[in-house]
Amino acid sequence: MGGFFGCVSKTECVADIFYGTDYHSHLGNMRGGMMVLGENGFQKFIHDIRRDQFRSKFERDLDAMHGNCGIGCISDTDSQPLTVFSSSGTFGITMVGIINNLEELQAEFLQNRHTHFTESWGGGVSPTEVAASLIASASSLAEGLRTLQDKIDGSCSVLLLTEQGVYASRDKVGRTPIVIGRKEDGSLAASFESCALHNLGYKVIRWLGPGEAVLLNRTTFEIDSVLPARKVMKMCAFMWIYYGFPAASYEGINVEQVRYRCGENLAKQDDGLEVDAVAGVPDSGTAHALGYAGYKHLPYRRSFVKYTPTWPRSFISDSQTTRRHVAKMKLIPIQEFIHDQKLLFCEDSIVRGTQLKDTFARLPEWGAKEIHVRAACPPILFGCKFLNFSPSRTPLELIARRAVHAMENGQEDEQHLEKYTDATTPEYQEMVRRIREEMGFTTLKYQTLEDTIKAIGFPADQLCTYCWTGKD
Ligand code: SF4
Repeated sequence: MGGFFGCVSKTECVADIFYGTDYHSHLGNMRGGMMVLGENGFQKFIHDIRRDQFRSKFERDLDAMHGNCGIGCISDTDSQPLTVFSSSGTFGITMVGIINNLEELQAEFLQNRHTHFTESWGGGVSPTEVAASLIASASSLAEGLRTLQDKIDGSCSVLLLTEQGVYASRDKVGRTPIVIGRKEDGSLAASFESCALHNLGYKVIRWLGPGEAVLLNRTTFEIDSVLPARKVMKMCAFMWIYYGFPAASYEGINVEQVRYRCGENLAKQDDGLEVDAVAGVPDSGTAHALGYAGYKHLPYRRSFVKYTPTWPRSFISDSQTTRRHVAKMKLIPIQEFIHDQKLLFCEDSIVRGTQLKDTFARLPEWGAKEIHVRAACPPILFGCKFLNFSPSRTPLELIARRAVHAMENGQEDEQHLEKYTDATTPEYQEMVRRIREEMGFTTLKYQTLEDTIKAIGFPADQLCTYCWTGKD
C-alpha cells in the first residue's frame, strides 16, 4: 500500500522527514524516497528497500540534504517522489493508492501529441506520473488536485512539495487517512500514520476529511484550506484490523484498542469452549489474542516467537515458495507451550491461508491437542480494488473464494455471492467448514461483520468493507 510523511518546519526538516517516513515502513517494502526544499532548491533521493530497511538506506544521504520543507514516502509500487515542472510551478509528488483506469488516462493524455511519459512501473506507465500529469494539466495546483480526484477510478491520497509549502490531499472518499500535526514552535506535518508524529514532537490537530486538501504554508505556518471535504466517506476498515501500526489512530480511533475489542467479541462467541492458553499469530494477531485472553481470563502464551534480528520481511520475495520458506523460518515454536495443550490462536484475517497452513501444520507434531483459530474479520471474498492490499492475479488465490469455487462447481458469479457473506446462511457455514478442514484446525470462527464494525466504533456507512461484502 505505502505511506508518506511531509512537513514544513521552523528549523531544518531533514531529520523529521527521515524518521517520520521511516515510521511508515510497515506499509510497504519496494521503494523509499525523501525530497526536501531549501536554499539548494529541490533535493531528492530514492532507494530500493526490498532487501534493506528504509533507515539503513537513507542514513548516508542525510548530510547532503538541507531544507525546511519536505516529503518522504514508503512505496509498494513505483519510485517516488517525482519532480514535476509544470505551469503551476515545480513540485514534488508522492501518492498512496491505486489508479485502476491508468491505461485509459494514459491514452487520453497521449492523444494530445505534446504529452509523453518518462517513468515506468510494472511494464506500464507510473501511476504517480499519471497523477502528476492530471494535477499539472489544470490551471492551478488546487484545481489539479480536484481534477485528479474526479478523474481516477480507485483511490489516491497525495502529498505535494512546492515553493508555497506542502499540499496534503486525501483520497476522495477517504479510503486512506491523512492527519495533521503541529509542534509547539509552529512547525506543521502531514502524515499517513498518526503515530509518526508523537516522537517528533507534533501534536495531532485534526484528520483531513474525504477529498479535503490543505496547504501547510511554508511562510505563514498556517493550514490553508485548498479543497473542502466531500460528503461521502469510505475509510478502509482493514486499516484497523490489520494494516495500521498499533500506536496509530484513524479518525481518532486507536488501532490497538480496536484489536482488543475484536478479541473480546471473538471471546464472547466462545461460551463453553475450554482451552489451556491463547496466542496470537505473530505479530498481527497479538492484540486480538490479548483482547480474547483478557475477556476470558485465560493465560496469553507465545507458542511461536518471531526471530526478527536477521530475517527480512517474508513478502519481499517475488517467489511464493521463498515467501513461504522465509515465513516458516522466521517463526520459532516454544514447544513447552504447545505440547499437550488445547490452544486458541487469534489472527487478523485469513487471506490466502498458505503461510498460516504451513505454520500450523507443525503443531500436531509438537504435541498440540487441539488447535482453535479465530479470525478478527469476516472471510475475505473480494480482492481489494482500492489499495494495493494483497494483490492477487485471480480471486481464487483467496482461500474463501476457493471454498466457494468448489461448492459452486466453478460456476459462481462474483455479483451473487451474498449468501457467503452472511454468517447465518448454511452456505457460509459450509464455506467455513471447508476452510477449517483445508487448514487442519479443530475449530474455526470468524468475527461477524456487525461485530467487526462495532469493534471499530465508526459509522458503518462511512467504512469500506468491500473485501468482505463485495459492496462499495
Ligand atoms: S476493499 Fe478491504 S482492504 Fe480495500 S479499501 Fe476496502 S476495506 Fe480496505
